[in-house]
Amino acid sequence: MSQGIFSVLTGDGKGKTTSALGHMVRALGHGKKVCVIQFIKGGWPTGEEKFITGLDTNIELHIKGRGFTWKSDDLSKDIAIAKEAWELAKTIIAKNEHDLIILDELTYLIHYGMVDETEILDTISARAKNVHIIVTGRYASENMIEVADLVTEMKVIKHPYQKGIKAQAGFDF
Ligand code: ATP
Ligand code: MG
Repeated sequence: MSQGIFSVLTGDGKGKTTSALGHMVRALGHGKKVCVIQFIKGGWPTGEEKFITGLDTNIELHIKGRGFTWKSDDLSKDIAIAKEAWELAKTIIAKNEHDLIILDELTYLIHYGMVDETEILDTISARAKNVHIIVTGRYASENMIEVADLVTEMKVIKHPYQKGIKAQAGFDF
């Protein structure tokens, strides 16, 4: 039986979500079952949403946000959605129906104090032993880094945004 890895992809550089999706592709290739829950996102359709929605495979995808909080018109709505999304994640983790669970942008729920950090870390620690979990997002907390088995920091060296190139469909989302 495999040993479930808790992986955290953090830092201010690009490649956290796309790396997690690379793991999704890899797992699916081995016939594994994958669940992707995207927190925060949801303001616009991403390429991954469009692609996954059209497939009949072992992927379960939930997009549970209203876009990024710094663009929010009503923070209390974001908090309510974040809490609801976390409840869904908890249920899915407890059901133990997947080999890999990707919790995309989960770090922000802790960073902005939307969901209790201890509850998140305890839930991840209490999962079935063979399940891999990948959390993405900037500002991973010290406690999360402590609990994780694998932590990678994406560090920005250069980003096209710095010379005014805006996010592009098919490359950035
Ligand atoms: P990706 O989804 O491309 O793997 P990411 O998950 O590492 O990126 P996030 O912090 O989730 O990055 O940011 C989401 C959006 O912001 C993406 O469109 C991404 O291209 C863009 N982005 C990522 N890093 C930077 C950066 N250093 N400066 C400006 N924009 C960035
Ligand atoms: Mg991301």
